[in-house]
Order: sequence, then structure tokens, then C-alpha cells
Amino acid sequence: MLYLKTLESMRNQKGQFVKGRKETTAEKEKRIKKFTESWVKRKDFIRDIKHPKIYNCWRSFMFTLKGKTIGCSEEWEDYRTFYNDVIDTYKDGFVFTRINKSEPFSRNNFVWLDKEIAYNTKDNTILLTYKNDTKTLKEWSIEYNVTLAGIRLRYHNHKDYTPEEIIFGKKKVKHRSFKSATELEYQKVRDKASKMCSAYKFKDKRKRYEYDLNIEWLIKNILYQRCIYCHSDIHVGCDRVDNNKGHTKDNVVPCCFICNTVRGNYFTFEEMKVLGKEISKLNESRNINGY
Ligand SMILES: [Zn+2]
Repeated sequence: MLYLKTLESMRNQKGQFVKGRKETTAEKEKRIKKFTESWVKRKDFIRDIKHPKIYNCWRSFMFTLKGKTIGCSEEWEDYRTFYNDVIDTYKDGFVFTRINKSEPFSRNNFVWLDKEIAYNTKDNTILLTYKNDTKTLKEWSIEYNVTLAGIRLRYHNHKDYTPEEIIFGKKKVKHRSFKSATELEYQKVRDKASKMCSAYKFKDKRKRYEYDLNIEWLIKNILYQRCIYCHSDIHVGCDRVDNNKGHTKDNVVPCCFICNTVRGNYFTFEEMKVLGKEISKLNESRNINGY
């Protein structure tokens, strides 16, 4: 009973398997059994069937949407006739395909092809025009060193793709347009400022402090400035003059990471100015002594 319950929960309301989960051995056996039973009941059932794949080939052009469009000759609508026609040439692992792709399946229009040859032939019939040049999928895959399987998949599964997207795949991330070194540098600073603003805003909101900074102001008055205490230009951020107030334009000064850490809640703004001078001296002597 418990088993059945689990089984049910793994299917959706329509009784279909939920995508992404593996079928258990018991489920697989049950499914095959059900399939075999319904197959045996068919009027065109052949008891002595050794090759279920032959039935699958017949099924593919009789019942699938794509197969129905291709169609087959009238006599092949009967499975027995089809089976007798193809069994002599059947080879295990070979692909059932048409000789003439513009004609439906029939006694005179079928062949069992080696898998590799079949797929190559298939790809050789599909032409793709890209940059005023028409080539087969395989040729494109060689030209741009892209896997053929990928191109084939995109070609068949994504009818809305452009030739470029079929060959190279759809770009998921939209790349920023080309920018000069200075522009890129500025972009970096802007990204940093944006993150800082969000963080300050978040902190102030939580403590119910006032906040009135913006990205442009922060870049100009903080990030592009030297530390107000020690004049260093490394890791400069905001220091609040009055720690009981939020990040506002009249309450923040540019301050390096070291001075910010040193000041903490222990020194006032004026006291820190004194300490800053000492820090600056120490930094200088370090540079001279090569530390
Ligand atoms: Zn400093």
C-alpha cells in the first residue's frame, strides 16, 4: 500500500511521470507489461516478433506527427505487410530511413542505414545560410569548430533561432558593448558605488537613520577622494562623523579602511584627525623602510 502511495505521488494528476525523476525498476516492468499486453491485443500483432524495433519504425511513420506528414504507401498501413517487406534487410542497430526524402515510405523507398552514415546523410541534406554562404550543418560545425550535435539540436528544436544562433547558440548574457579602458574603469567604480549605496541604505533603514546619498555623489566625494585622516587613497569608503546618524551628505567623509577600523566607536572625529596624522607618518616610514 505504501509503495502504491509513493508511486502515485511521483506522477501528476494526469498519471504522467513527473519530469526529472527516474523510473524505478518496478515501474519500468509494469509499464512494459502494460505496453506488451495492449500490443498483443492489436489485430496486426505478430506473435513471433524478435525485433521490437521494427514495430517502432512502423509506429513512427504511422502514429507520430512528423511521421504522419511523411506518410507511407497504402500496403504498408498493414503492419504484417510492412514487417515481411523489411525483415530480410533488417540489421540490428541500423536506422530505418527513406532513400528519396521527398517521397513517403514504401516498399521501394526505404533503407537500413548504419547510424553514422544515416546521421551524416541527414545533416548533408540540411542547408543553412549564414553570412551569404550556404553550407550543410556538418560543414558549419567543422568551419567554426562547434559540435555538430549542438547545431543539430538547435536547428531542430528552436525554429525561432537565427542562423547565427543555430551555429553558435543563443547568448544568455547580453554583453556590454565595447568600452574604452577609462569607460571600463569608470564602470567598475560605478558598480562598486552602487553596491556601497545599497548596503548603506539597507543599514540605515534597519536602524531608522536618515540616508540621502546617491551613486554619482559617492563617486565624486568619496571614492575619488583621499582619506580625510591619513590621506591614503587605498580602500576609501564612508566614515560617519556622527555615528548616531545615518549616511547623509553632511555626515559622511572619505575614510580609508584602516582609519575606519581604528576609529570604530572609540574616537571622535577630531581625535581621529590627530591619530590620522600618526598613521600617515607610520605608513610613510614603512614605505621608506620597504615593509
Ligand atoms: Zn586613512
